[in-house]
Amino acid sequence: MVEELLKWYALHRRMLPWRTNPTPYAVWVSEIMCQQTRIETVLPYYERFMNRLPTIADLAQCPEEELLKLWEGLGYYSRARHMKEAAMDIMSRFAGSFPSDFDDVLSLKGIGVYTAGAILSIAFGKKYAAVDGNVLRVFSRFWMDDHDIASEETKKNMKYRLEQILPDAVGDFNQAIMDLGATICIPNGIPLCEKCPLSSECQAYQNSCVSDYPRKSKTSAKKEIYMTVLLIEVHQRYVIRKREDQTLLKGLYEFVHVDEFSPSAFLEKYPSAKIERRTSRVHIFTHQKWYMDCYYICCDHIDLKDNEKLVSKEELSEKYSMPKAFSRFLKEL
Ligand code: SF4
Repeated sequence: MVEELLKWYALHRRMLPWRTNPTPYAVWVSEIMCQQTRIETVLPYYERFMNRLPTIADLAQCPEEELLKLWEGLGYYSRARHMKEAAMDIMSRFAGSFPSDFDDVLSLKGIGVYTAGAILSIAFGKKYAAVDGNVLRVFSRFWMDDHDIASEETKKNMKYRLEQILPDAVGDFNQAIMDLGATICIPNGIPLCEKCPLSSECQAYQNSCVSDYPRKSKTSAKKEIYMTVLLIEVHQRYVIRKREDQTLLKGLYEFVHVDEFSPSAFLEKYPSAKIERRTSRVHIFTHQKWYMDCYYICCDHIDLKDNEKLVSKEELSEKYSMPKAFSRFLKEL
């Protein structure tokens, strides 16, 4: 199986910028960016990020506002913050060199067992498996493994099992599974088994039960949150505020939003305001679903709260990082 996979990878590998010169930093950045995000989306972000911050030292020194701006649109912003924290840690604890010991790598902020395995295998050639959703899917089909892939125990067992068979070309092996999982043994839809280099040994394929794998328990329902977003314009400037004290999207900017909005109460305070209802939207996060109603409000003046400010559209796009949940409303302005 290992040999077939490596041969397939030599012919079909995806050409990705971090594969040309897989330094620990390049692999780290790419792995963090690719979490929960499609590779096609990541590519322009990766290029821009590496041009601006080509070394760990650059990342460690980058001001947070600028870092979040570089990350704007990628989502899951804590990933960027954790990377900066880890880069500072590498500068102080490892003299700026990415560590090559598994426990040291794992001690860095934002790096879990999967990412540590990916970096150490791809950049250092160390024999660690990198078990993510792709690997779990491919090998639960390949071995007809009935364990629940949502369980940590299953991940641990899969890692152990794979580490018994890893070849010397461990980086290629891990990347081959990533590519196979993304292009052949796909998560949604029917896998392309007739093109798969593992088909002659794949238990699920040989037993015609591919669609029964992987086994996965139901995840808990997302928390539903309802809000009304207010796009308040005052002389072509818009009210925004920084998200504080909230773990999700902390430090990013947002339009003002309230649980419930009463146009008549607003008009009592600002009688000359013009208020229009705009398109409602739904934004889905991993654990939350936001139902966002929207009003556009144009007025002559507004009493700003301490954490609010008025900015132009240009300032908004150049200076302030706004997560997609809110920037989607920009087209309403
Ligand atoms: S043969 Fe089909 S199910 Fe088995 S690993 Fe390949 S693509 Fe996946």
